Amino acid sequence: MYDIKDDLAATLAEIEDAGLTKHERELTSPQSSHVRTKQGEALNFCANNYLGLADHPEIVAAATDALQQWGFGMASVRFICGTQSQHAELERRIADFVGQEAAILYSSCFDANGGTFEVLFDAQDAIISDALNHASLIDGIRLSKAKRYRYQNADMADLRTQLEAAREAGARRTVVVTDGVFSMDGYYAPLDEICDLAEEFGALVMVDDSHAVGFVGDGGRGTHELKGVLDRVDIVTGTLGKALGGASGGYVAAHREIVDLLRQRSRPYLFSNAVAPSVVAGSLKALELAATSTDQREALRRNTSLFRELMTEAGFELLPGGHPIVPVMFPGEDGARTAAQVADAMLERGVYVIAFSYPVVPQGKARIRVQLSAAHSEDDVRTCVQAFVDARDEVTAGS
Ligand SMILES: *Cc1c(COP(=O)(O)O)cnc(C)c1O
Repeated sequence: MYDIKDDLAATLAEIEDAGLTKHERELTSPQSSHVRTKQGEALNFCANNYLGLADHPEIVAAATDALQQWGFGMASVRFICGTQSQHAELERRIADFVGQEAAILYSSCFDANGGTFEVLFDAQDAIISDALNHASLIDGIRLSKAKRYRYQNADMADLRTQLEAAREAGARRTVVVTDGVFSMDGYYAPLDEICDLAEEFGALVMVDDSHAVGFVGDGGRGTHELKGVLDRVDIVTGTLGKALGGASGGYVAAHREIVDLLRQRSRPYLFSNAVAPSVVAGSLKALELAATSTDQREALRRNTSLFRELMTEAGFELLPGGHPIVPVMFPGEDGARTAAQVADAMLERGVYVIAFSYPVVPQGKARIRVQLSAAHSEDDVRTCVQAFVDARDEVTAGS
């Protein structure tokens, strides 16, 4: 007789045999540049805590006050009785910050992306998506009945080909969808070129800026600011779960009509609980810090350049760029194993980084993805580089 438990155990064994099991390391401290685990203290270089706001005292205080003033939970979706004035205020602030008319909050950016496409694009329409887009965009697009086109990562010749195909198919609305920053490489999408092409074809541009909002661009407003197209992007989605305090929540910011329609029709918005009051209050404070102060952004930039400079001097191969995601490459056949061994040896030295290999990244392109934070001190960055050097020495001596 068929036994689902046996069947699933076999699948789990396959995942384990392929070396793909994800093990969760339990922190016994708040999220920060320095964390505690059961194995001891570690310097953390793998969080999305770009601005170091995850345990920022002003944000913790704002969230604590909100528990007293606004209570713990909403126990309602937004349209029944789950909208406090601070939810509406956070939406206005997000819209202003990313340069859009309006914004709508979701429980996560995964939900924001999951709930947008089927509302705005149906069988008469075309969605043209970058091949390396985030899983939530891919899933959201699958929920829509629109025709789907895919272009090779950041390849503008291929994007043109797909735009031509959509036009030939007679699409009513066409949208080009891209991550602002590709998280495995730390590369920025060429949004200026994408906007030019979209304009030529009368297409909309949608950007998921989760790995950029708060710190990319002079004002931290995102990849569209960095690329000089702040007012040429039609739809911006993003998360509150990374640089902007790192708690949870996501949003879609766009023309007022888009946001208004999402409020009427978007399923993860209509059928899921409102974001908790303390998270809203903390996120408002995070946004205020990101919008009014340049200190954290400058610290983040300093740390990123120092890390790149010292690692290059030490002979490591880095992918080029300026984003605080810095991939340290371990190419070739043995790369996956070397990267994993180096990451383990670094953790023994109290530095927490993560190795990625196939199928998360292409075959032969294994890497350790380092993520800098404004909360790292110069010493922290130097300690991380030294741990890389020592771990590499240990691993190459042993092989
Ligand atoms: C992290 C991330 C998300 C998911 O955000 P959540 O708010 O955690 O659901 C979506 N898109 C991109 C590009 C991301 O990097």
